[in-house]
Amino acid sequence: MNKDNPPLSTNFIQNIINEDLKNGKNDGRVHTRFPPEPNGYLHIGHAKAICLNFGLAIANKGLCNLRFDDTNPSKEDIEYVESIQADVKWLGFDWEDRLFYASDYFDKLYEFTLGLIKSGNAYVCDLSAQEIREYRGTLTEPGKDSPYRNRSIEENLDLFQRMREGEFPDGSRVLRAKIDMASPNLNMRDPVLYRILRSTHHRTGDNWCIYPMYDYAHPISDALESITHSICTLEFADHRPLYDWVLDKVDYSGDAKGRPQQIEFARLNLSHTVMSKRKLRELVMEGYVDGWDDPRMPTISGLRRRGYTPESIRDFCDRIGVAKRDSVVDIALLEHCIREQLNQHAPRVMAVLRPLRVIIDNYPEDQVEWLEAENNPENPSMGSRQIPFSREIFIEQEDFMENPPKKFFRLSPGGEIRLKSAYIIKCEEVVKDENGAIIELHCSYDPDSRSGGATSGRKIKGTSHWVSAQHAIKAKVRLYDHLFTSEDPDDCEEEGADYKSQLNPDSLRVLDDCRVEPSLAAAEPGSRFQFLRQGYFCADAIDSQEGHLVFNRIVSLRDTWAKIQKENRSNQ
Ligand code: ATP
Ligand code: MG
Repeated sequence: MNKDNPPLSTNFIQNIINEDLKNGKNDGRVHTRFPPEPNGYLHIGHAKAICLNFGLAIANKGLCNLRFDDTNPSKEDIEYVESIQADVKWLGFDWEDRLFYASDYFDKLYEFTLGLIKSGNAYVCDLSAQEIREYRGTLTEPGKDSPYRNRSIEENLDLFQRMREGEFPDGSRVLRAKIDMASPNLNMRDPVLYRILRSTHHRTGDNWCIYPMYDYAHPISDALESITHSICTLEFADHRPLYDWVLDKVDYSGDAKGRPQQIEFARLNLSHTVMSKRKLRELVMEGYVDGWDDPRMPTISGLRRRGYTPESIRDFCDRIGVAKRDSVVDIALLEHCIREQLNQHAPRVMAVLRPLRVIIDNYPEDQVEWLEAENNPENPSMGSRQIPFSREIFIEQEDFMENPPKKFFRLSPGGEIRLKSAYIIKCEEVVKDENGAIIELHCSYDPDSRSGGATSGRKIKGTSHWVSAQHAIKAKVRLYDHLFTSEDPDDCEEEGADYKSQLNPDSLRVLDDCRVEPSLAAAEPGSRFQFLRQGYFCADAIDSQEGHLVFNRIVSLRDTWAKIQKENRSNQ
């Protein structure tokens, strides 16, 4: 983590708020909003914006609205409206009765716009989109005035009303702000405020054939909701003069209190993934992943399905803090946050992902012992459970090697291991098929080696997890890796390559023949466990059910974030 990023509670936006409160600005009110456009599912970057906006409201006894910025009907959909609400709620935030839509303000906005035209601050322009671009100039050259710039107020009013009535074809005319074609800020060179677009809106239907632009609708929506601090990402810093211009020129005072202030912060970028909604949509629509909630996706629904908890995501957003400069956060930090939580709270169980049959020849054939096993040594209040032991068990294939290298502390011919919460076994014989593949092991066990037994203290280097063959339950396990192999998949675009060329072909591995201990038979969909030595897993909320268990690996046990931190400290 970057030292420049203080935690949420002490971030620079809070400092601005402190100053405002001290000066009695906005009568001491703090009112923020989270303004998603319903054109895709929310991702972890949005989670940061949600935690920031709702978090600041909570910390300052203020309010936070949820507002859909639905000014672009051609890309928006009710499916997104619903998923966004579900995600914000799941993250643990409550907008109470303050759910709004920019489209709620279309009438008001139209009325304000007539005022803007009457005060000579807006005009109808007949240039084509291409011509508008050409007239705009560049960063080094001023723009040129549109030939329609000096239309009379009467003509502008007449044309704008006829635009609204549907007299003109799509794209034939726009309404523009009359600001300054020579402004050094391109956003101030007579930006478009309204366009003609015949597209059915998911809320207003076909009531409108003109739609306001985001930069125009946004400050007015903020003002109408009496927002005090309008927090957005850095790329809008150059739009701030336009935001303020709109608030200066539009007379909203009869409809709102105070005046909102736009404040920009750095968006979250996460390594090994992409965060652009366009790209995430492409991955879904073109089938590179299995939907918006694919557990490999950085979407909130994907993280939820993977097994992340709301607490772990809020913790992550808190730790990355709020900065004024863009940076990339290591995905290992996100993984660290869920690991820390589950280390305390997830029950530990035994599951064998790649089973190898072991027959314990000196164990009585019909005997079953129910052995006590701790549920979480980190958290004794979680108690213990009984697990069955019998003559045939499964261990992990990788826990046996016929020709082990030095320092292989697991099972090998003639060698011993301790079975977790059970006995010490010794490998007596390896059985192979005609192709030389190992099919089973014959072992002996030391009956006194269990906890409390005479030989329980014997020094054995390796401990393995296991399940009783006759009691174990079959399960399917999905192991995930980064969605993209490269740290910054967008990077390759500078060399003209497609970010999709960086997709990780091994981001999903499915193991169909795993065996889990019987206590998992009725694992609740969505419940989380530590599979000893294998990582943290979640029973898939959609695919898993009794009789057909499916587990997603949330993260492995190896905490690369803690390792990086340790290395950083020792290098200092
Ligand atoms: P689009 O390109 O579709 O506008 P967007 O990611 O900006 O994509 P919005 O729905 O407009 O999506 O975002 C809602 C809010 O979330 C905005 O205030 C935006 O600034 C914030 N946001 C979006 N992406 C991030 C991110 N990566 N980090 C932090 N905040 C983000
Ligand atoms: Mg946006």
